[in-house]
Amino acid sequence: MQNINEIEDLIKLISKLPGLGPKSAKRIVLKLINNRDELIKPIANILVQVYKNISRCKICGTLKLNSIECSYNNCKVVEKKYDKICVVENISDQWSIESSSIYKGYFHILGGTISSVGQSKEDLLVNSLVKRANNEEIQEVILATSATVEGQTTAYYIQESLKNCNVKVTKLAQGLPIGGEIESLDDGTLFSAFKNRSKLNSNSD
Ligand SMILES: [Zn+2]
Repeated sequence: MQNINEIEDLIKLISKLPGLGPKSAKRIVLKLINNRDELIKPIANILVQVYKNISRCKICGTLKLNSIECSYNNCKVVEKKYDKICVVENISDQWSIESSSIYKGYFHILGGTISSVGQSKEDLLVNSLVKRANNEEIQEVILATSATVEGQTTAYYIQESLKNCNVKVTKLAQGLPIGGEIESLDDGTLFSAFKNRSKLNSNSD
């Protein structure tokens, strides 16, 4: 292969994406280069737009347009009021839970786990979760972190952070396969994990 810095840099960047190694990154880059107008140009444009206009809400962690206030089923609910907050690691977990229609309530997206690379406790939006949990409408906080060591450590840390809040704190049932990430669970497993969630504290019934 010729040494063209731009192409090598692009391959390196693309191979950092989930599920892609250097081999698939090379195939993707070749596909892009062979489709300059159909792929490179629109992708470059949309990436700039996404970078400029979309960010995570600093309160609930969901993705939102910078130009509007967060009004998704997270921070503020337009039509319905809920009394539960479901805490997940990533937005993909929220999408899985939503598409299974098992849960109706607010979401809180931590943005990772305590021991994920580069994540510190301060990055995880725990302080804003405590504030949200203190809202009088909220009766229950459901911890829906993965059944991994990191996920469970994070759940414990959140449980501790919520101990002075007058809310019931629950955790998804043990039925989660060990190492199971929420986003990869099927609807049936999610359903029983929600249905059989266990209470972690003695605050508020
Ligand atoms: Zn929000």
